[in-house]
Amino acid sequence: MNNIIAIVGRPNVGKSTLFNRLTESRKAIVDDMSGVTRDRHYGKAEWLNREFIVIDTGGYVANSEDVFETAIREQVVIAIEEASIIIFMVDVTTGITDLEDDIANILRRSKKPVFVVANKVDNSMLVHESAVFHSFGLGEIYNISSMTGSGTGELLDDIIAKFEVVTEDETSHLPKFAIVGRPNVGKSSIINAFLGHDRNIVTPVAGTTRDSIHIHYKQFGHEFMLIDTAGLRKKTKVKENIEFYSVMRTIKALEEADVCILMIDATTGLEAQDINIFHLAEKNRKGIVILINKWDLIEKDHKTMKKFEDAIKEKIAPFTDIPIVFTSVHEKQRIFKAIEVAQQVFENRAKKIPTSKINDVMLEVIERYPPPALKGKFVKIKYITQLPGIAPTFAFFCNLPQYIKEPYKRYLENQLRENFDFKGVPVTIYFRQK
Ligand code: GDP
Ligand code: GDP
Repeated sequence: MNNIIAIVGRPNVGKSTLFNRLTESRKAIVDDMSGVTRDRHYGKAEWLNREFIVIDTGGYVANSEDVFETAIREQVVIAIEEASIIIFMVDVTTGITDLEDDIANILRRSKKPVFVVANKVDNSMLVHESAVFHSFGLGEIYNISSMTGSGTGELLDDIIAKFEVVTEDETSHLPKFAIVGRPNVGKSSIINAFLGHDRNIVTPVAGTTRDSIHIHYKQFGHEFMLIDTAGLRKKTKVKENIEFYSVMRTIKALEEADVCILMIDATTGLEAQDINIFHLAEKNRKGIVILINKWDLIEKDHKTMKKFEDAIKEKIAPFTDIPIVFTSVHEKQRIFKAIEVAQQVFENRAKKIPTSKINDVMLEVIERYPPPALKGKFVKIKYITQLPGIAPTFAFFCNLPQYIKEPYKRYLENQLRENFDFKGVPVTIYFRQK
């Protein structure tokens, strides 16, 4: 959990090539399914059954010549603060630049694990060339070729060995709601509204500062943790890297959260970056609530809400069973409703349906509309069970699992949603041979 690997380094060393290699298989699956735009700079990867997030920091640096060195230095500082592991990538064919010496100086002061990766070691002749990088004083040099993949296995073996272990504390069992969204949508404002409303809020959580992201809320019979992604921005001198910083914070918050409260600015609507956050939450099987904030700024009639909802659902399809709440933090409109909805989504995500109940309902659903025959073969679904785990997952046992296609799977998902209410929660369905 919460393992974020940031790849830093100057342009052209091969960061995005490695990023693509690490995230490739998943990208294909996701793109096929949804056909949506996808952030090319962060994504999920997996090695030996350990999942992690990879960030290609190069994707967040402006091209302009005069800012780029400052931006890269700043990025390295942010990466040290926000990532769990840093890959410092250099190019074996070009040796060391001044900028890279600077980066090494910053990284040497880091408490986070740093892996120096010499890229473009395409053949064994080049291995000894990478010895120059020992002058960074950052330990072992990993020789890889992002292009062919050679050396990446050893690198990943050592990286996952450094993954953080999750520590439990007295708040671990509480629902965790992450407030996420692009800059200026109103994240700090809503957090302040909660804080201002309630003197019982316990902050900071032990061992963290006010600027940290955890806020323990306890009032009106509700108790939960809010994960704030806006907090620190005001303090740090993040100039060139607002987007990078905000993506880092968002990913971290999402990883920790049970439910992601995605805030949108009503005056701009749902944009590409919001959709990326949405899909990241979906892929991570987190609960999702969408808040359309600054609702006070919108001129409305009785159709406006419906129009907004439809426009949003079109953009997030096919996963549209999502609660949408129209808020105004300025006018204190529906902000507690937002929390109630998040609580409901949390409960939906934790819901366990007894096997007998699922079978009663779903076998009838299937009988009414059975899977279409394929190549003259009939698919027979025999029984269904909910698998243990944090997010709702169902196994449908049948004779020919490979013959069930996407549309029928979607039909089953919709029926599960209609009958059992999984609003705001990604539902996973497997077909198993029986
Ligand atoms: P970035 O700017 O650091 O993201 O670098 P890119 O991934 O865009 O790579 C820069 C150039 O180096 C591209 O032309 C890549 O094809 C090339 N490149 C990346 N990895 C390797 C490698 O392992 N070997 C060789 N020979 N070229 C590579
Ligand atoms: P953040 O960057 O997401 O934390 O956004 P802020 O909370 O800093 O809010 C950005 C700006 O939007 C500030 O000027 C807020 O006063 C304003 N704002 C936040 N919520 C609302 C709202 O519901 N209505 C209006 N009109 N303005 C809002």
